[in-house]
Amino acid sequence: MKLVRYSKILKSLEMREIVLLKSFPCRWGRCSFCSYIDDNSTDPDEIDRLNSEVLLNVTGEFKVLEVINSGSCFEIPEKSLLAIRQTVERCGIEKLYFEAHWSYRHKLHEFKQFFKVKTFFITGIETFDDYFRNQVLKKGVVFANVDEIKRYFDSVCIMVGMLGQTKEMIIRDVKILLDNFEHGTVNMFVENQTEIKPDLDLQRWFKQEYVWLNDVKKVDVLWKNTDFGVGTVLNE
Ligand code: SF4
Repeated sequence: MKLVRYSKILKSLEMREIVLLKSFPCRWGRCSFCSYIDDNSTDPDEIDRLNSEVLLNVTGEFKVLEVINSGSCFEIPEKSLLAIRQTVERCGIEKLYFEAHWSYRHKLHEFKQFFKVKTFFITGIETFDDYFRNQVLKKGVVFANVDEIKRYFDSVCIMVGMLGQTKEMIIRDVKILLDNFEHGTVNMFVENQTEIKPDLDLQRWFKQEYVWLNDVKKVDVLWKNTDFGVGTVLNE
């Protein structure tokens, strides 16, 4: 599978370079909508070789680098983490974005200490509806309130347009994101091989009602899962 692994995010609150690195399989690995496993490997040498090549694309143009992988950043092998740190030093990167599952929330400080630059952590909440998030999507993200998320993470991702979701759920999710976070990502669900199916009517409604989100700087909207310029188009 050929993936685009380097790009630049230009339409966002913070312009940044982005790399899609390879990693070990997601430790949680149970989300019912997730097909990321296709880009995982258990061979650290293969992963490190590829990641080193990908990181050579980084120039430090914006002094900000987002590192994503098909899982959480804690599933990136150690040598690749060292390669990221070398890239930070080589390019004068001042801020790193990472993504991690909620279960890693007590480890985030390790990355802060390791990279010694500003870190910005994103987590996939998908929806603030507890039942849909954990019983349907099997996300394994249990929190008491939004403040608990903010204690650990700077930004959340939500997902829209799945069968079983309602307009009311989406309206509430977007409102919570906008009212509480300095940055967020809205992902339009793209059909894959999993049991979760898109709700095309709901997606049409969302595109009409929320087109204005394109102008909200603190929200990155991925109408397609390749809108950041990395990854393959799963459904075209
Ligand atoms: S935590 Fe992320 S990578 Fe892991 S199964 Fe869930 S969506 Fe997939």
